[in-house]
Amino acid sequence: MKKFNPNTLARPSVLQLKPYSSARDEFEGTPDSLVFLDANENPFPTDYNRYPDPHQKHLKSIIAPLKGVTTDQILLGNGSDEVLDLLFRAFCVPGKDQVITMPPTYGMYQVLAQINEVACIEVPLRSDFSMNASAVVAAVTPQTKMIFVCSPNNPSGQLIEPESVEFLLQSFEGIVVVDEAYIDFSNSPSWIAALGRYENLVICQTFSKAYGLAGIRLGMLFAHSSMIDLLKKIKPPYNINSLTQEVAVQRLQNTDQVAREVALICSERDRLKTVLKSLPWVKEVFHSEANFLLIRVDDAAKRYRQLQDQGAVVRNRSGQMHCSETLRITIGTPQENKWLTAWMKNC
Ligand SMILES: *Cc1c(COP(=O)(O)O)cnc(C)c1O
Repeated sequence: MKKFNPNTLARPSVLQLKPYSSARDEFEGTPDSLVFLDANENPFPTDYNRYPDPHQKHLKSIIAPLKGVTTDQILLGNGSDEVLDLLFRAFCVPGKDQVITMPPTYGMYQVLAQINEVACIEVPLRSDFSMNASAVVAAVTPQTKMIFVCSPNNPSGQLIEPESVEFLLQSFEGIVVVDEAYIDFSNSPSWIAALGRYENLVICQTFSKAYGLAGIRLGMLFAHSSMIDLLKKIKPPYNINSLTQEVAVQRLQNTDQVAREVALICSERDRLKTVLKSLPWVKEVFHSEANFLLIRVDDAAKRYRQLQDQGAVVRNRSGQMHCSETLRITIGTPQENKWLTAWMKNC
């Protein structure tokens, strides 16, 4: 097992800080017989007059067995955005430290780096969207705290080769963050299974894609418990509200339904891929293990406009590295996909 002590990498100010201790931290448990006069809440019931559980115990107790982790290996955030931001704030000293990203990839890593005044070193993927692992390792400096791997990647839809991720985990002394927002649409296993082998591994997943709950804003981070402890020190105490916790618990009671939707989205993806390949103006349909397809077309701006005129909004990704003349299309319902392909045949 690769040993790693997050405290040697953390910002000195984070190590020193004494976390805010909320009323519900100091007194745990909520037996009905107790009278709660500790948090300045309004005592009259509205269903939501009480602060939410800052540790999300019930929700984590359902997530843990589902993901094959223990509850102390889970951090929940207000979307993946929040858990990613917490990583920056825990480990990167503004104006000094660096992270590495591999464009074309999810834009939020770069935005969060900028917000936190952290330099973002870009080591592009190859033009076939595979990772150039030796170039990534060559770009590491003593100031490099994190490397972001998005797999399956957005916008390509492709999985990043496991051997390359493994190489980073072995050769990099900092944190390897694997963003698995789309892992449920892939046939490949999650990196969660490797948590026991690598203490410098962090995995992010989300309720926004396969779970169909983008509106509740719930992101998950899985890591060694020492990493989770450090991140918990700086998270806002009540970052997951009661409504979000309730809705997530309900949805997790119906994972069969989630699995059915994911299977349907995947079969629709493969069907749509076949249709797209037959269109004369579509030059390439990239392999996808996500709930979207990246396609290369003759004229992306023109095709984007045509589709919008007909009522379909897709994403023009032509401005991204290696993505000239590409559109990214999210897989809709079977009915929506039928309309889309009918419109596309008229373009
Ligand atoms: C959609 C997406 C997310 C999800 O972010 P949330 O803040 O959880 O909604 C995370 N990472 C990638 C790569 C995504 O495409």
